[in-house]
Amino acid sequence: MLEIKNPALLNVTKAVNAWVDSWPNQNSYTDFLRASSLHGVCPREFVFNYWQPKANRSFDAKSRVLMSIGTHLHSLKQNQVLGPLGILWGTWKYVGSSEALKTHEGFHPDPDEAVWAMVHEKEQKWEYVEPEVWDEKYRIKGHIDGLIDVGRLEWLNSNLPLLKKDPISTCKRLHAMAPTQRMLFELKTTGSFVFDKLVAPKDIADYYQMQACIYQRLMGVSHTLFWYVNRDTAASKLLLYAYDAGWWRDATRKARIIWESIRDEVLPEALMPCHSPTDKRAKECVHCPVCFGKLDFKKYVESGKERAAKEGRKLLDLRGISFETPA
Ligand code: SF4
Repeated sequence: MLEIKNPALLNVTKAVNAWVDSWPNQNSYTDFLRASSLHGVCPREFVFNYWQPKANRSFDAKSRVLMSIGTHLHSLKQNQVLGPLGILWGTWKYVGSSEALKTHEGFHPDPDEAVWAMVHEKEQKWEYVEPEVWDEKYRIKGHIDGLIDVGRLEWLNSNLPLLKKDPISTCKRLHAMAPTQRMLFELKTTGSFVFDKLVAPKDIADYYQMQACIYQRLMGVSHTLFWYVNRDTAASKLLLYAYDAGWWRDATRKARIIWESIRDEVLPEALMPCHSPTDKRAKECVHCPVCFGKLDFKKYVESGKERAAKEGRKLLDLRGISFETPA
């Protein structure tokens, strides 16, 4: 039997993390705003990064693990739970073999096969395609986790004893139902500390509320069903969230400040989250030295344009575009 004499040999976590942290950074350049992170975006930081992109140093080994847990959980809930159950609506992509690309619009096209694959630990043949949303004027983009059929969900809710007693025939009845109206679905993972405090929709974090309202506005849907999963216990909690126009106003106000600043080649002054370079947020910001240093912004923009040309990056042409204040 293998005998390890020095237990310190097993303590490789730091080395592994250092190795993962040394991987090349993703390109941080972006010419659109992500709905999922817009609440936390600093307009100045975005504008600095637009002209002269810098790698995001906060995306470390821990961030990669958390992101990967989220990705797998989304796939599990979409492709193995809500899809085969028959309440997730949208586009399904066939990934079963090397056949020509095949897609299906509607509910999961083959729930029986999906259940068989789960039971026998085989690969799923159909994958849910998260619907994309895009606002042309404010250049806000996002991918929603899914669309839930309200009528089918209500029917399930009022037939829970039946579902428990005879899930197969109950689901067959459900699958025969015509589609009804839809609401959005957002899956979130969190630790026990936050999870235990979630009681009502008002307890949902502001950044998630803004994200949901952007999606609801762009999809013309009145509600989002938040499904929270506790990372520590795997417990679930559902919260039904209604549209709040205030979040859309805040989102478009921030977008307007950003795109007008880029259009006019000026530095935004509004909505700055930091007052000094010693603020916690400023210390984490890669653009802090230029933000609080002496800067000739015109020169900064000019060298940003030269760099973009060298890197083959096509900058936006926003001349003549109006981003009026939303009503
Ligand atoms: S230091 Fe703060 S205010 Fe300045 S760009 Fe960074 S996040 Fe924005």
